Amino acid sequence: MLPQVIIIGRPNVGKSTLFNRLIGKKLALVDDQPGVTRDRRFGDAELLGLKFQIVDTAGWEDEEAETLPGRMRKQTEASLESADVALFVVDARAGLTPLDEEIGQWLRASPVPVILLVNKAEGRAGEGGVLEAYSLGLGDPIPFSAEHGIGMSDLFESLLPYL
Ligand code: GDP
Ligand code: MG
Repeated sequence: MLPQVIIIGRPNVGKSTLFNRLIGKKLALVDDQPGVTRDRRFGDAELLGLKFQIVDTAGWEDEEAETLPGRMRKQTEASLESADVALFVVDARAGLTPLDEEIGQWLRASPVPVILLVNKAEGRAGEGGVLEAYSLGLGDPIPFSAEHGIGMSDLFESLLPYL
């Protein structure tokens, strides 16, 4: 069985873009409407020869539905338990939000190793967001761009000890 890597983060940070890049889809099937990805998506990923199963989650979406978020967080929680590593994605351009802090707190309490990816970090606009991400207390953040493929070798090196 392949080791499993789960992607976690609030809506719109680039989780699905990262998922698509890791499974090697040339045309990214990114969801334009928030909340349309209700289920977890599984894919076979390869990164510089490293093979693993990748899981895209939407457990922190659907904020408009009163009872759904709790159920979906539970689902994400269940999938986190079976994962070997979690990729926590935050947005370098938007900066940290209360939901990022909440997810960070939740991940710090989990026994699963966490790799912190600060996505959308291409160009100067992302620099502040990368520095800010240190405050999450989840180790050194990796400046990343799922869209442009920046930070892939750093991600590879971070994954290596766990897979
Ligand atoms: P998700 O909701 O976390 O799955 O986020 P998506 O993958 O659907 O992406 C949300 C938006 O961020 C889309 O408009 C993407 O094109 C954009 N995006 C994703 N990765 C990057 C990146 O590396 N840089 C920039 N500038 N935008 C990105
Ligand atoms: Mg998505």
